[in-house]
Amino acid sequence: MSVDGSLKAFKQAQDLIPGGVNSPVRAFSSVGGTPLFIAEGSGAYLTDIDGNRYVDFVQSWGPLIFGHRDEAIESAVIDAVKHGLSFGAPTQAESDLAQLVISMFDSIDKIRFVSSGTEAVMSAIRLARGYTGRDDIVKFTGCYHGHSDSLLVQAGSGAATFGNPSSPGVPADFTKHTLLAEYNNIESVKKCFADSSDIACVIIEPIAGNMGLVPADKEFLHELRALCDASGTLLIFDEVMSGFRATINGAESITGVRPDIVTLGKVIGGGMPVGAFGGRADIMAKLSPEGPVYQAGTLSGNPVAMAAGLAAISKLKKNAQVISVLNERAKRLVEGMRKEAESCGIPMQIDTRGSMFGFFFNEKPVKNFADACNSDAQLFAKFHSKMLQEGFYFACSLYETGFISTAITDEMIEDTIKASAKVFKEIT
Ligand code: PLP
Repeated sequence: MSVDGSLKAFKQAQDLIPGGVNSPVRAFSSVGGTPLFIAEGSGAYLTDIDGNRYVDFVQSWGPLIFGHRDEAIESAVIDAVKHGLSFGAPTQAESDLAQLVISMFDSIDKIRFVSSGTEAVMSAIRLARGYTGRDDIVKFTGCYHGHSDSLLVQAGSGAATFGNPSSPGVPADFTKHTLLAEYNNIESVKKCFADSSDIACVIIEPIAGNMGLVPADKEFLHELRALCDASGTLLIFDEVMSGFRATINGAESITGVRPDIVTLGKVIGGGMPVGAFGGRADIMAKLSPEGPVYQAGTLSGNPVAMAAGLAAISKLKKNAQVISVLNERAKRLVEGMRKEAESCGIPMQIDTRGSMFGFFFNEKPVKNFADACNSDAQLFAKFHSKMLQEGFYFACSLYETGFISTAITDEMIEDTIKASAKVFKEIT
């Protein structure tokens, strides 16, 4: 299998773009090798510029739950394009998508659209601070909430991969209001509340996907809710990744814990740049122009992006059972791979939530970022590169989650397990 075209394209990109990529984790730095330059995606497959085809378990890092070039989304986008790319004025599609999402999340009375998950979270934090009149926030190590200054502290995802969670360029003054707690450890949250009486919000990925897949324990989330309630602190669920993936009604529907604000992204844009944040009416009423908390965006609610999101989320709502079908496939995949790994003496921890799956080469269950960091990164790198050669495109970092799309068939899952059996034998 030749990747000469990708090698050449990457060299050129490195001369022009820092690191050759427009988002760090794409550079394959933590697994070595060259990032593949993609020519096209179709259904379950990605094809690189050398003509190699891969089953895609990354799906643009989550958005493409119906796979590449889903007919309904594609035709909605083409239709919207014909009416104009952007108006900077309201369109009906914004209210249609808002209504749809509000109908699916009990905790969302009102919602505002932005263009990325980073923007959604950054705006939600400002709103929480504006609403409570407090400055401090609590975040969890290993959770990633985008690359805004106050959240790039002990973050997961690309920031974890690069071993540089707190980035140069972020003044210490900007992060002094960010208190850190350990995921799934309520005592560490209690300590934050003991240290500060000025906590505006606690932000958490209720199903963390940026230190690998590490869901929060239900009891932990209930305790978190109680701590927030006791001190008038807002609870923000960052569901940019898990939203519409783990369930179509938000993590609140499976944990019984209702957040005050939810942030969304990825699937909500059907592959186009969309983020959103929504929550209780009295909190959302603080947003400009209704209230004093300023937030804005030239391309927010872009009509083409709204059309894609509307097509994706309507299709999901109509086919809600799809989440459990995808979960069966996800389970089969990781259980199959674990069996093959263990028959080669490789310990593996696995988990799934809806169409999200995760695995760690680790002897012990993974409950937090420290546990995740104790996984075998070298073995992961070998696994990743060999699976690529077999035609299976997994996320290029052990701190990322995998995704199953509706285009990935049972047969493809079996083929992936078979390939993993071959690979595990080769790398042990
Ligand atoms: N929050 C979570 C939970 C995410 O997983 C991500 C991205 O992966 C973000 C926020 C940031 O979203 P974006 O990359 O669209 O800015």
